[in-house]
Amino acid sequence: MPSATTESQMETNTLETRPSREAAEEAVRTLLRWAGDDPNREGLLDTPARVVRAYEEFFAGYAQDPAEILARTFSEVEGYDEMVVMTDIRFESHCEHHMAPIIGKAHIGYLPSKRVVGISKLARLVDIYAKRLQIQEKMTAQIADTLQEVLQPQGVAVVIEASHQCMTTRGVHKPGTNLVTSRMLGAFRTNGETRREFLSIIGRTGTGSLTNT
Ligand SMILES: [Zn+2]
Repeated sequence: MPSATTESQMETNTLETRPSREAAEEAVRTLLRWAGDDPNREGLLDTPARVVRAYEEFFAGYAQDPAEILARTFSEVEGYDEMVVMTDIRFESHCEHHMAPIIGKAHIGYLPSKRVVGISKLARLVDIYAKRLQIQEKMTAQIADTLQEVLQPQGVAVVIEASHQCMTTRGVHKPGTNLVTSRMLGAFRTNGETRREFLSIIGRTGTGSLTNT
């Protein structure tokens, strides 16, 4: 697996060769024609520009470096060595197979060793990875691995539950389904008690339904 740095360098290179805004808007006009509509009718005239602006929001994560967000840590933890857990971090992402929305929430826990981060940073970390084309399993692993790499805690746990609109609004049409993925590192992987404490805090006591990535 490439390190966070290598990955963000690759993404920076992609950004340098990105097409112009005009080319992106033209691509939307092509899709509108492909769908069977007329991009020149009044109601659709501004749609390509709006879609491109929406894409800037949906995919803002490519221009952000997750390691940099976490770089400012606090080393004065006054001997605090208990679990830190942030639950129900809502996110919106897009699946890389259909570019359809993935809407869900992430739960993050870690066991500090020397350093902690401000809690808003955990939410921003989720957003950076969510605002890219994703598969849920990869996003779960990226969040956990980045935290492990930057904070070097005794362990990291990430559980994500999300609904995939490529499954609920098309294809097999199964509304109400949630995919649950998890990644447990360090003490959360090796110590059953630590893992159970985390799962009970986030309200998931059974481990049977978890996909460990
Ligand atoms: Zn999909």
